[in-house]
Amino acid sequence: VVSVSDLRITFPTLEGRITAVDGISFEVPAGGALGIVGESGSGKSATSLALMGLHRGTTAEVTGQIRVAGKDLATAADREVRAMRGNDIAMVFQDPMSSLHPQYTIGNQLVEAYRVHRPNASSAEARARAVESLERVGIPNPARRVNSFPHEFSGGMRQRALIAMGLMCDPKVLLADEPTTALDVTVQAQILDLLDDLRRDLGMSLILVSHDLAVVAGSVDDVLVMQHGKIVERGDVRTVLSSPEHPYTRELLAAVP
Ligand code: ATP
Ligand code: MG
Repeated sequence: VVSVSDLRITFPTLEGRITAVDGISFEVPAGGALGIVGESGSGKSATSLALMGLHRGTTAEVTGQIRVAGKDLATAADREVRAMRGNDIAMVFQDPMSSLHPQYTIGNQLVEAYRVHRPNASSAEARARAVESLERVGIPNPARRVNSFPHEFSGGMRQRALIAMGLMCDPKVLLADEPTTALDVTVQAQILDLLDDLRRDLGMSLILVSHDLAVVAGSVDDVLVMQHGKIVERGDVRTVLSSPEHPYTRELLAAVP
């Protein structure tokens, strides 16, 4: 459902262009789960943003091929890329506070995310959908909590609400970039369990990005290890964990307590 071929991303800096992603290729089958791991600056987020078409109109230069749900992002019109976001692939970022608007209720923001793609939906339908989506991600008492503001939620609940927003239009792929980094360990595990459940119950594909190999280990089938914009190791996550081949992967594993 996602395929990336020879993706290269560069950014301008004062010293010239830097290469954030240096010719990577990978695929995620429908219903599959892929982990992308690597240390800070290895190009994980640049890759994530590219999958959402979010480098468009920025100073980033993107080459190579990206296909999401049959659409070729290099040739798609802006309108098609906007239609893709949320509908085909939804992204959840690290810090839920930066993706949620402090002045609007959670419900309003979920309704808004729905209406972008379903402009003809009635308020009642959109609202029912928001409650259902909050329930699906495990927010207790969703019919009441839909009226809460982001600051009235705990960090874990905000991350759940953000995932609920991502689910509003039944995307085929959920892309989560460091979704648990801002959370304590217990809440981290709960969010990872939730992503697992969603994948199983909704048949969604999952792309899980983390600097920590251990975080993705329980939730994905395959893993890519990135260093300096390149994929240095890839494979079945169990095999990579039990017999890492690249020294960098061994280092990542050694860093885990
Ligand atoms: P982290 O684990 O810290 O999130 P990452 O693997 O997500 O790291 P990226 O954010 O993809 O790393 O960054 C890859 C490289 O590209 C880094 O060297 C970063 O400084 C650079 N970079 C990213 N975005 C920009 C930008 N908008 N302008 C200039 N350089 C950028
Ligand atoms: Mg990042």
